[in-house]
Amino acid sequence: MKIGVIAVQGAFIEHEAALQKLGIESIELRQKSDTQKGYDGLILPGGESTVQGKLLKELDMFDTIKTQIESGMPVLATCAGMILLANELSNDAHAYFQTIPMTVKRNAYGRQLGSFHTEADFCGIDKVPMTFIRAPYVETVSPDVEILAKVQEKIVAVRYKNQIALSFHPELDDDTSIYNEFLKMIA
Ligand code: GLN
Repeated sequence: MKIGVIAVQGAFIEHEAALQKLGIESIELRQKSDTQKGYDGLILPGGESTVQGKLLKELDMFDTIKTQIESGMPVLATCAGMILLANELSNDAHAYFQTIPMTVKRNAYGRQLGSFHTEADFCGIDKVPMTFIRAPYVETVSPDVEILAKVQEKIVAVRYKNQIALSFHPELDDDTSIYNEFLKMIA
């Protein structure tokens, strides 16, 4: 099994390290030719969604990756990655891959609560650690989107078909339960 990690900007190295700990091979997707290399799943890391969206288009990677997602490639998206998957952003006119019918709010926790750590249930798993960094949350979902986790009444994790999207950063905590959920979709 091999996971392609989008590596144009942001926290991709942390995902690679987490996968390595699980004994899973990853490849960095830095340029268009990398998207043809063959992989079984995709990770969209945290970072700055506007920069990532712009770079993916400039590097001519955007359409290929969108097609891969729409064709059923399993996806794990964290933070900025969640923003890239949303059909719509409530506080930004941009939208990117638009592969999950949900509305996401960027930088949704405001300045005071810019970064925080908590634990919450995730899809029936008790107390999964969650690290939020200038995080988005999901404001609305269409009925066929499964809600995997809520924190303070806000939706912070969803699954839609082959895609899991998270407001927080599992790559920054030692707990592997979220990666296991993702790997289950590939197996
Ligand atoms: N605030 C960032 C954005 O809007 C996301 C933050 C993150 O990925 N940690 O893209």
